[in-house]
Formats: sequence, C-alpha cells, structure tokens
Amino acid sequence: MNQGKLTTADTDLLVRAEKLRLLFNHLFPAVLVSIFTGILLTAVLWPVQDHTILMLWCFFLMATSALRLVLFLQYRFKNPTLEQMLKWEKPYIFTLLLSSTIWGLGCVQLMPLDSPNHQLIIMYFLMCLTGGAISSYWAHRRLMLAVVAIVITPVTLWIITQNTSSASIIALSFCALTLLSCLVYSSKIMTDAITQNLLKNYELAHEKEKVEYLARKDELTDLYNRRAFYEQLIEIGTYCERHNESLSIIVADIDHFKAINDKYGHFAGDLALMKIGEIFDRHTRTSDICARIGGEEFGILIRTGDTSEALNLAEKLRAAIASHPVEFEGDTFSITASFGVASGAANFSEIVKKADLAMYDAKSQGRNKVILATENKDTTDMANA
Ligand code: GH3
Ligand code: MG
Ligand code: MG
Repeated sequence: MNQGKLTTADTDLLVRAEKLRLLFNHLFPAVLVSIFTGILLTAVLWPVQDHTILMLWCFFLMATSALRLVLFLQYRFKNPTLEQMLKWEKPYIFTLLLSSTIWGLGCVQLMPLDSPNHQLIIMYFLMCLTGGAISSYWAHRRLMLAVVAIVITPVTLWIITQNTSSASIIALSFCALTLLSCLVYSSKIMTDAITQNLLKNYELAHEKEKVEYLARKDELTDLYNRRAFYEQLIEIGTYCERHNESLSIIVADIDHFKAINDKYGHFAGDLALMKIGEIFDRHTRTSDICARIGGEEFGILIRTGDTSEALNLAEKLRAAIASHPVEFEGDTFSITASFGVASGAANFSEIVKKADLAMYDAKSQGRNKVILATENKDTTDMANA
C-alpha cells in the first residue's frame, strides 16, 4: 500500500474509474431502450419511409447494440477491479458514440420530407432518447454532452435549415434545445456533487488504511509491533494447528543493551535498534512476520517447519548484526544478539515459549549465539535450567 499522501492524480483516476463503473451499471438497460426505441421508430416510419433505408438503419442500430451488449457481458465476466477499470473506458466511449451517431445522423436520413407529423415524431423520439442519455450518463458529464449533441443536433439543424419546415416544428426544436440546455446545466450540479463525494470517500478510506497500517508498525524499526506480531501469530498459528502444518519462531534479544545505552546514550541505542530493523528487513522474506516484540527483543514467525531453514536465517541475522558496527557521533560500537529457534506443528504458544527459553539458553551459554530448542527439553525443564 502507498502510505504517502493521496495525490490529486491518484484521486482523479479513482474517481474516473468509479464513474465508469456507474456507466457500466447503466449499460444493459440503456442498450435495451435503444433497441426497443429503434424498433418502435422503424414501425412508426414504415408507411412513410423507404423500406431499404429503414432496414439499413435498423441493421446498423442492432449491430452496434450487439457490440455494446458483448462489451457489457465481457465486463460482467471479467468483473474488473477499480484499478483495471480504465482499460474499459475507450471501448465504452467508442461504442456509445457509435450508437449515438447512428441515432443522430441516421434520423436525418429517416426524416420524411413530405410528412411534418412524422418529422415531429422523430424529433420527439430523439428528445426522449436524449433525456434517457442524460439520466444514464450524467456521471461522465463530457461524454453525456457529446451524446446529447450527437443525437439531437443533426436533426435540429436539418429542421431549421429546411424551407419546408413549419414554424411550429422549428419552435419545437428551439424549445427542445432550451429544455436540454437546462438539463445539461442541472446535471453539472449532480456531477460535481458526486465527484466531491467520491473524492471525500477515497481520502477517508486512504486515511483509515494509513492509520491501521501505522497502528501495526513499530515506529523506530519499521518492523511490525508486538500487537501485530501476536495477532498474526494467533491467525497463522491457529491455521497451522488446524491443518497440522509446522511453523518456526525465532526470538532474538540484544546483548548487554543496557550497557550500550549507559555508555553511548539512548539515541545511540535507538540507532542500534534501527540498524537491526534494517538487517531483519533485508534478510527476511515478505512472507516472514518480523517484529519488535519488546524494548530490545525481536520475533520472527516463519511459515515453515523446516528447522534448518529457521536456524540458517537466525545464524545469518546473528552474523550480520555482529559484523555491522554502529556509528554514532564519532563513536563506533559493536552489537550482538542472542537467538532462540523453535519449530513444530502443535500448540503455537508452546513453540513461542520454547524459542524464548532457547534464547535465554543462548544468553547463559555466552550470548551472540543461536540455540535450537530441543524436543526432549520441554519448556518447564528449560525454565528450571
Ligand atoms: P541481556 O544481554 O541480558 O539481554 O542484557 P540487556 O542489558 O540487553 O538486558 P536488560 O533487560 O537488562 O536491558 C534492556 C535495555 O534495553 C534496558 C532499556 O534501557 C533498553 N531499551 C529498551 N527499549 C529501548 C528503546 O526503545 N531504546 C533504547 N535506546 N533502549 C531501549
Ligand atoms: Mg537484552
Ligand atoms: Mg530483553
């Protein structure tokens, strides 16, 4: 997850994708309305228009509708995430503008010269269609404006420029344009409102995600904190117990850390902790849960019961810590850590205890060591040792 500030570019893309999702939600009913209206108009014009022209227009309308239906089905089948949505923008816009052009320019071809009544009917159909387009595509305002313009302008211009057009049909065209302008204007208010809402939602969701992320992180080392470690241990441990899978735990504790603090100061100690955080991060995999579980104590949960793998990792970490002295304000000092390793399939809290006790074993055996918790030495024996 990107923990930085959500940029305007990020939110713009998210809002664009969300609006496109809204458009796809309208796609199926919009195509059905287009098909139904097309058939109805063909039937109405059948007595007054050339049948070949009508059939040709109907064919093109049905072909683009089929194209849009295929797009809709593909979209439903793929069910894209918000991040994948923008790939669907171009095909959506292309097929919609194609269908609008067939309506807009096609209806000019369908205008019967000698029947003002049918001209009026076509105008009425287009008006209804643009009303539908406004209600379907308002989320994407520029696309909606393009659709309205493509559908209504050609016929309106045709009517205005025809000498034969009656004054009433010209008045009706102007009236239609005025009404549509009002709708287009009011849709701006709605579009702006939804854009603002979506932006706020994304900002809130991002902030929430960021707070949750920070609540699980240790500020100093950038590893997981104790709470996050135990949460994941319970989750993964319970899963492993149920499926009889093994896991390994490494517990590490810095040696004589109090003395380092006393000698070089608390800031130097902090720097040492940060260094160890970097070393742990560098040497572990993303699947390993790596955490600072106490002041100078660390825990690693590995989803493998392969003891040698866990031992190798602990040894690698031990060697890396010992060979990377810390430099602080002109002083250089070495740090070491003691490691306890335990693996198993049963009771995960027992495995943690065993790793912890093995770490204390490493301390008592001279520190800067990796000790594997042995099977024959249960937690009580080790505690008493
Ligand atoms: P041992 O080898 O037995 O583990 O000795 P130790 O000195 O490391 O252990 P002890 O428990 O006596 O001391 C732990 C020290 O860790 C005490 C405390 O000041 C220091 N410490 C704990 N958290 C922090 C921290 O966030 N920053 C710094 N600088 N020191 C810390
Ligand atoms: Mg210590
Ligand atoms: Mg300690």
